Amino acid sequence: MLIHVAVPVPSLGLLTYRVPESLPRPPVGARVVVPLGSRTVTGIVMDDAPETTLAAADVKPVTQVLDDHAFVPVEVVELARWTADYYAAGPGDTITAVLPPKARGGRADAHKTMRVATATVAGLEAVAAGTLKGRQLDAMELLACAPAGLGTPELAERGITADVVSRLVRGGLVSIRQERVDRDPFDTSSIDVTASDPGRRLTQEQETALKRLRALADSQTFHVALVHGVTGSGKTEVYLRLSAAVRDAGRRVLMLVPEIALTPAMVAQFRGAFGERVAVQHSALSDGERHDQWQRIRRGDIDVVVGTRSAVFAPLERIGLIIVDEEHDGSYKQDESPRYHGRDVAIVRGQRAGALVVLGSATPSMESGYNASIGRYERVVLERRVLDRPLAAVKIVDMREEFAAEGPDLVLSRALSQGLALRLERREQALVLLNRRGFATAVFCRQCAGTMDCPNCSVSLVVHGEGVSRRARCHYCNYTARVPAVCTLCAGPFLDQTGFGTERVELEVRKACPGARVARLDRDAIRRKGSLTTLLGKFAAGEIDVLVGTQMIAKGHDFPRVTLVGVVSADVGLGMADFRASERTFQLLTQVVGRAGRGERPGEAIVQTLYPDHYSVQLACRQDYAAFFEREIDFRRKMRYPPLVSMINIVVRSRTFAGAMDEASGIAQRMRGDAERSGLKVLGPAPAPIGRLRGEYRAQLLIKGAQRKRMREALQAAIAARPELQRHVLVDVDPISVL
Ligand code: ADP
Ligand code: ZN
Repeated sequence: MLIHVAVPVPSLGLLTYRVPESLPRPPVGARVVVPLGSRTVTGIVMDDAPETTLAAADVKPVTQVLDDHAFVPVEVVELARWTADYYAAGPGDTITAVLPPKARGGRADAHKTMRVATATVAGLEAVAAGTLKGRQLDAMELLACAPAGLGTPELAERGITADVVSRLVRGGLVSIRQERVDRDPFDTSSIDVTASDPGRRLTQEQETALKRLRALADSQTFHVALVHGVTGSGKTEVYLRLSAAVRDAGRRVLMLVPEIALTPAMVAQFRGAFGERVAVQHSALSDGERHDQWQRIRRGDIDVVVGTRSAVFAPLERIGLIIVDEEHDGSYKQDESPRYHGRDVAIVRGQRAGALVVLGSATPSMESGYNASIGRYERVVLERRVLDRPLAAVKIVDMREEFAAEGPDLVLSRALSQGLALRLERREQALVLLNRRGFATAVFCRQCAGTMDCPNCSVSLVVHGEGVSRRARCHYCNYTARVPAVCTLCAGPFLDQTGFGTERVELEVRKACPGARVARLDRDAIRRKGSLTTLLGKFAAGEIDVLVGTQMIAKGHDFPRVTLVGVVSADVGLGMADFRASERTFQLLTQVVGRAGRGERPGEAIVQTLYPDHYSVQLACRQDYAAFFEREIDFRRKMRYPPLVSMINIVVRSRTFAGAMDEASGIAQRMRGDAERSGLKVLGPAPAPIGRLRGEYRAQLLIKGAQRKRMREALQAAIAARPELQRHVLVDVDPISVL
């Protein structure tokens, strides 16, 4: 008997093995140990394979059959297969997403503490004085940029061994502390959630929405409902009650949230309502925790799974409801193979399970808005905030006028500075958003106009930190360099920095509000595990007055004491040549403006922009989704962009520019031969917007067409014509960004 096996090895296809007579016959979903080259690996049985024409000697035998039942439920095996096909990814990549860690059955041991190294003052002085050399210098430069310290595993990753660290410790340049890295997945003690209260009366709108959703769920047939509810309209309460109804009918619930940061609050609410039978699945759990949670779900001890995108593959059976909260969020799309969209896989899963899929958002994606507009999804609307709290009053500040009045270096407008001061006086809280990290966005020479660029990527380096800890860093490959005193191109002593990011905003807020407790929330600030929840917890507890941050602060959180939201630069991203630029800007602004005034006191938002007339800025400030949708869908239709056509983005990588362009042009030609018949259009090749990344040149092709299946087939044929290309081609079906 022959079987197809998917092994968790990137870019490998399905493999065929023979089950010897001496072994039991493994069912679909069972684990088998198989030989692969000189080693053995554990894989999952996908299906029976037809007897091949291959000589029997070429088909290797299975070494061991680990299960007599489906270790991965058959429906999840099928979902993985669909995902691999649809996203043109290997079954190898996809099965990795489906398996729990340590599926081999080995003991799942987790490290409970980590050694964290921090530069001492003497260490910082030594860096500034230039007395260090070699690895010690490398280590100290890294640490100087990381005031909170770096874990020894992270240092090791960058080539700093334990030996180097110990020598620095002995020299007094570095101090070490032990830090707990693994959190109890249910440790929600730092989170202050207004738990759902079963006795609470739903608003009229919530009542109507719940009734409609219950009817859809009760039908036990597949439906998709788009719950379009303004921020603060009480969607979570509706999710909880709908989930309870589904659970009472004997079916299970999958609750997806876009970010790990949003899981603790959601888990706390579901635990409040469902007790023990709630599991959590996301990638920041330790292997041991993830393994335990996975097993509990698989055993059927769980009614509700809360998790991020990968939880869509949770081994949960008898699903009656899948909720995708903040469905418009780009985090649902995985940016490595398989490049799947968690929302779209959820819809397929719901369809196969005969379940209700609820997509919730205050700013539905163009895809979901469009599907609702043509009646494919049922639209459920929550137009008003709970208790009729008004939406924030929005003031748009034209920064061109501010610059004219206050000079071009201004970061916080007068209105925003005054607004912050007022909140402090009243002991209220504020959020300040800038969707750009770092202190300054570029270093340039006033003499030759040269900029400090990444040697590996075609982008300029971003300045992080100030004073002795100032470093220039690449946001793509993490290359880091000190900022020299003179220009490396012309030797002129006139190096200056320009542009600003969250670090600079943090500084400006501190200057504008002496005495305020200010914190920053962005990817740099939360490198350490747990620090994100700690920060959010502190803010929720009122221990921080002003939280400055990137889009991380805009998402989903419910902070009743926030009465002011400042947007430092509403147009970050608007100038980009990405067809979703306006959609993303609209979503981000609407979401962040919606963070103000969720408690008893009314909210205010101050939006600084250079394009006060741009429709996504204007309509977000008015929270007018319908008008935005009409305008944007019109643009997509005229330009033939998704959701009105399907799109596949292809990037070809090579060591040389010509190599990348040649290979891409070969693919384009082979596809064009086929284009007429497949009804598709090939654009390019052209250099990718980031033409060089991590030392490799990149050429780009875009395919547009009506039928994904044909597009994918034509593409796969064009790539297969040169098998050695496979490893150099990145295929993104339904891209959310083409940059
Ligand atoms: P959304 O997710 O739609 O932005 P939330 O679910 O976060 O809104 O609800 C906003 C706030 O309103 C929360 O603090 C929630 O506890 C509260 N809330 C929800 N429903 C009700 C209700 N029926 N009565 C009173 N408060 C409610
Ligand atoms: Zn780089």
